[in-house]
Amino acid sequence: MSSSVTPTTDPRTQAPLPPSRPPTLAIVVPCYNEQEVLPETTRRLCQLLHDLVQCGQIDEASRVWFIDDGSRDRTWQLIDLAAGQPDSRVCGIKLSRNRGHQIALLAGLLTAQGEILVSVDADLQDDLNVIPKMLDKFSRGHDIVYGVRSSRDTDTFFKRLSAEGYYRLLQRLGVEVVFNHADYRLMSRRAVEALREFPESNLFLRGLIPQLGFPTTTVTYERAERYAGESKYPLGKMLALAWQGITSFSALPLRAITALGVTVSVLSVGMGVWALFIRLFSEHAVPGWASIVIPLFLISGVQLLSLGIIGEYLAKIFIETKRRPLFFIERLVRGDAPGERG
Ligand code: UDP
Ligand code: MG
Repeated sequence: MSSSVTPTTDPRTQAPLPPSRPPTLAIVVPCYNEQEVLPETTRRLCQLLHDLVQCGQIDEASRVWFIDDGSRDRTWQLIDLAAGQPDSRVCGIKLSRNRGHQIALLAGLLTAQGEILVSVDADLQDDLNVIPKMLDKFSRGHDIVYGVRSSRDTDTFFKRLSAEGYYRLLQRLGVEVVFNHADYRLMSRRAVEALREFPESNLFLRGLIPQLGFPTTTVTYERAERYAGESKYPLGKMLALAWQGITSFSALPLRAITALGVTVSVLSVGMGVWALFIRLFSEHAVPGWASIVIPLFLISGVQLLSLGIIGEYLAKIFIETKRRPLFFIERLVRGDAPGERG
């Protein structure tokens, strides 16, 4: 475990730090039907907190924050049980229903307390050994530390191809994302407070967080197989998230309509000239079926496609203007290990 020199001033704000107090860490873990993996995740994360507190890297008020995203299995009961143990470092947040990984994660980030927030999946795919390295980077003045996968060997061929292709597509479309980074990252308190200012309903945190700015760095890690249980991100949800990433951040599809419109118009004019030429100078001037039907089909196809894309953006504006609250916390429990303040 790497130990760092505890700074005497906050490297970000230069404000003097209280002499003997290391920062408080909150590990934020969204959970949806994770009863198979949760006991092991709790054990490992609590052990990690214990070790980091022992070596003075974090304050003893540090906690693991589990967010139950409306699970239908025993996830909440397990969280509640863990938080109720004596000297527990577990806190639990129960959302009133399933809202999806991105919203559950945001709920955790905006509710958990601490100067440092690390988000991690419940299934132990993210290597917890890099958390001390992230803390090290934080103590050197970085507000955001992205966990980046060193390889995609544990993915299926299809997943690897589609994920890497998708990241490239996003970059081409001008969406700023960190290559091979999912949602395993460290954020400072001020970065989270900046994130709070975004009133978006169409959440794609991977695209949003690079918009915050602040000193940023990466750490690489090997992503393991899921420890137990099944993926809670089936193909449908994955495609929805991918589509969200494109349409929430890039106006390029809208601009492409203009380009398509120009091309089709030029083609139509060309076709019109050709039809007129046949009509005026040709012997067999009976207007052909094809010259009517083909452009008709072509143009209505393009119009439909264009309307569809415009509709997608309109839908987003529609949803954003409602300003609906994203989540409600049904219950909140806290472990009573020493160090709890206020
Ligand atoms: N998750 C969630 N709400 C959902 C779906 C997933 O909070 O509606 C959580 C899940 O419990 C896990 C994380 O999001 O902690 C990532 O999900 P998963 O590991 O199943 O995704 P994969 O690694 O297969 O892409
Ligand atoms: Mg996973």
